[in-house]
Amino acid sequence: MTWYPAKLCNECGYLNKRDNCCKCNKWMGDTKIPAHLCNDCGYGAKKDNCCKCNKWLGDTKISAYLCNDCGYRTKKDNCCKCNKYSPMV
Ligand SMILES: [Zn+2]
Ligand SMILES: [Zn+2]
Ligand SMILES: [Zn+2]
Repeated sequence: MTWYPAKLCNECGYLNKRDNCCKCNKWMGDTKIPAHLCNDCGYGAKKDNCCKCNKWLGDTKISAYLCNDCGYRTKKDNCCKCNKYSPMV
């Protein structure tokens, strides 16, 4: 199974915006779970698009994270874009 780390663009990851969950936009606090893309959403050049707004990332790639809820247990194994089951192995 292939997966790709989810990234935020300059705007979506600007300053404290990067502390918001990339799925539900809730403030994450201390619990940050790394977000990832499935092999479809990260395929080819698609992994260079922001996981929130889909804009091309360019040089600024900010790691995207999930909140406690969105990353709870097996939910963290789902693609943060399409929600497909895509375990990080
Ligand atoms: Zn969330
Ligand atoms: Zn963005
Ligand atoms: Zn996906």
